[in-house]
Amino acid sequence: MIAYPASIVAHEGTRYTLVRLASGEKALLVEGRAGGFEPLGQTPGGGVLCPLTAANAAALRARLPWLNPAPLGRRASIGLGDRLGLATPGHARAVQGSGTLPVFAQQSVRENARTGRTPQQVLDDAAWGVFQSGWQGPWGADADHLKRAEDLPPFLASGYTFFTIDPGEHVQAVEPAETPDALRARLSPAELAELRAAYRGRSYSLDSLTLSFDEESLLRAAVKYGRAVEHAVRLYRQIERSLGGKAFDFELSVDETGQPTSPLEHLFIAAELDRRGVRCTSLAPRFVGAFEKGVEYIGDLVELEDHMARHAAVTRLFGGYKLSLHSGSDKFTVYGPAAGHTRGLLHLKTAGTSYLEALRVVARREPGLFRRIFTLSLECYPSERASYHVSARPERLPPLDMLFDVALPGLLDHPDARQVLHVAYGAALARHGAELRAALLQNEEEYAAALAEHLGRHVREMRV
Ligand SMILES: [Zn+2]
Repeated sequence: MIAYPASIVAHEGTRYTLVRLASGEKALLVEGRAGGFEPLGQTPGGGVLCPLTAANAAALRARLPWLNPAPLGRRASIGLGDRLGLATPGHARAVQGSGTLPVFAQQSVRENARTGRTPQQVLDDAAWGVFQSGWQGPWGADADHLKRAEDLPPFLASGYTFFTIDPGEHVQAVEPAETPDALRARLSPAELAELRAAYRGRSYSLDSLTLSFDEESLLRAAVKYGRAVEHAVRLYRQIERSLGGKAFDFELSVDETGQPTSPLEHLFIAAELDRRGVRCTSLAPRFVGAFEKGVEYIGDLVELEDHMARHAAVTRLFGGYKLSLHSGSDKFTVYGPAAGHTRGLLHLKTAGTSYLEALRVVARREPGLFRRIFTLSLECYPSERASYHVSARPERLPPLDMLFDVALPGLLDHPDARQVLHVAYGAALARHGAELRAALLQNEEEYAAALAEHLGRHVREMRV
């Protein structure tokens, strides 16, 4: 049995340690008051060993308050999705001392479906990782991309503190050629009257920028986003009711919609939320260009910077909520300008990049397993790519059997390979999940170091 030294903590007369048993399993060692824990056995010294079950996670969280997620508010933060449930110790190391607050548990309904994990498991895995790493600062738990009312209950029941509402299904496409008359016909007379009273002719001054609504721009924004805002407000009320007055982080994301969000449309969304008393912690517009998974920003950086500056100005108009960047990993050219324009009020959301770092370790340590995962990912790519923003062309990749083992880790620096591996995580975990987890546990320190290095770079570059 070996102890994880960073985990050791004495609290109210009882000592808690995370240990690794000879079997390779991890367990909780409680020395002192052990009532309320499900035991596995006793140590010669009289300590109680407990398996890492959901019940024991709950019992430990009740004793050690910092193992519970908390709302982070309008302070710089990074979402650190972890599809394998093993990344939190590395994530904690990446943010340590940076001032950027971590969201250690973050998974969408789609990711849960693909990884076969429940919201509770995701939260428990993060909490065990928090315990292992000795992290005692605040951390968040993001129920990501919630689309429907029925998606919420399991996240609410397990104690999530950050709710990302994605009303994308209610965003209406508006064609540039659509006339004001055609747009008016898409709203009810009552809606029209209310909108005109609230916005027509109003202008907003934001730093050096002035935005105003004329009849046509108001119609465009209202038709495109009106229903989506209503839907988001409904889900917000559902969360409010369920949490009974407890604070929570609320993000609205329209990043996965077809057309970029203009700053004026963002203003419309923010003003509509504000008018209904909805307090946003962050908002994710759809930016210009492409934020694809696992690779650099694709598009015109000068245009993006100008676009971001305007979006950031809109956030300040409503009290300074955070601008949220989804598919935010690996966009190193973007963080500096984004942090500058938002004056540090930035939330960066990452997930798949931690899975890719896991595969980097596997490529180094278990080349045979890596080859099987890569081959499977190539097979899955044509079908899996449909639900992600990716543009990899697998035909540009070298044939796997032409590569020596020593060249395999290099594939993790190849944009096409990164995307192929990224989108196939569901299939890879379904078939090779147990081997993958075993390989990472075997090389736990190396995995934590890889995450600390890669995500640490993100955190450093998003500093103002
Ligand atoms: Zn997103």
